[in-house]
Amino acid sequence: MHSSDSDGLQAARAQLVGYGVRLLADGLAVGSAGNLSGRVGDLVAITPSGIPYGDMRPGDVCLVAPDGTELASSEMPSSETPMHLAIYAATDASAVVHTHSPEVIALSASRPELPAIHYAITGLGGPVRVAPYVRFGSDKLAAAAVGALDGRSAVILRNHGAVTYGRDLTQAYDRALLLEWLARTYRMALSYGEPATLSAAELDEVTAEARRRRYGERRGGPR
Ligand SMILES: [Zn+2]
Repeated sequence: MHSSDSDGLQAARAQLVGYGVRLLADGLAVGSAGNLSGRVGDLVAITPSGIPYGDMRPGDVCLVAPDGTELASSEMPSSETPMHLAIYAATDASAVVHTHSPEVIALSASRPELPAIHYAITGLGGPVRVAPYVRFGSDKLAAAAVGALDGRSAVILRNHGAVTYGRDLTQAYDRALLLEWLARTYRMALSYGEPATLSAAELDEVTAEARRRRYGERRGGPR
């Protein structure tokens, strides 16, 4: 998709609005919290700041250049635009989803990482780190998120939320749902005591088997 492709741009903006509504419906954020973005050619389309998802229209979705320059829309781009741009710069992401989902926030307040109590965590690259707390919207938060993402497609932000990325918005969003599900499952497991976790070798074995079966080329990843 090229940035001069106006149909492609409209489709990307509409998709971002649609997933914003899902963010609320799936309980991954409330009001106008959280934000989503996707690459459109050399540019990044990102949800605007302060507009509830239910009121958001495709034309409200902002376009920014990799250096943060705003290119279109009368709206202000998300306050977390620096974090989204830093993730695009540091990874091969084509879409980024930032949630304020309750299970990961609860975990972030008391644990240094989400451990591997289920093999599906290989879909996120392994145990998911909790990045140190830094104020929302800051360049330091962007740096903390990128640092904790190393080798992962998900990061939990302490006392804040989570970020996932993917090759497209569907994959990034599915990873946000997976992360929240894993955090909830971990909390349930903790109610029995300290849960057993999978070793790095066991996770590597899952990753190798998933590759062998060519999961990941189909929607949904390992089952
Ligand atoms: Zn946030």
